[in-house]
Amino acid sequence: MKDRIQVIQGDITRQICDAIVNAANTSLLGGGGVDGAIHRAAGPDLLAECRTLYGCETGKAKITKGYRLPARYVIHTPGPIWHGGDRNESALLASCYRSCLELAEANGCQTVCFPSISTGVYHFPLNQAAGIAIETIAAFLASHAAPAQVTMVCFDSRTKAAYDQALAALTRP
Ligand code: ADP
Repeated sequence: MKDRIQVIQGDITRQICDAIVNAANTSLLGGGGVDGAIHRAAGPDLLAECRTLYGCETGKAKITKGYRLPARYVIHTPGPIWHGGDRNESALLASCYRSCLELAEANGCQTVCFPSISTGVYHFPLNQAAGIAIETIAAFLASHAAPAQVTMVCFDSRTKAAYDQALAALTRP
């Protein structure tokens, strides 16, 4: 499974792939961080389509077109806000990754790029989030042929180091 997961440092809005994932909020009407960057790069038609979706629950996902982005689709998922760990944060974060991969597969996506969901303004502890992300992606890929390739696009070197470490620690082949 490891050969189908890669970790890079970069800007997710520049990635050429079938779908990029947006670490959105439940309104799906835009925000700061990666959400703001994706809306700026995609142009106003993305917000117009998002308005037709009436939000999304934490841990679930909804798909739109990519508009001016190089990616064909954007998969929007609201990650959990970290409240200390006793509000189901870990299960909700795993659900984000699974929901996005299910939507990607259902829409014929072979290449999918994720940002580090919830580790920005939502303050999920980075190493724990990276472990959950890599384990959940690997478990999905072990039982599904698509997507063929999943890329974690990390904005900074500290985030990349955490995902590199989580991938190296993966016990699956
Ligand atoms: P959340 O609200 O889910 O915590 P944030 O957008 O605040 O989402 O942060 C999630 C991660 O996305 C952080 O690691 C942040 O540095 C990163 N990020 C911000 N802009 C980009 C971008 N253009 N491409 C990839 N990652 C980004």
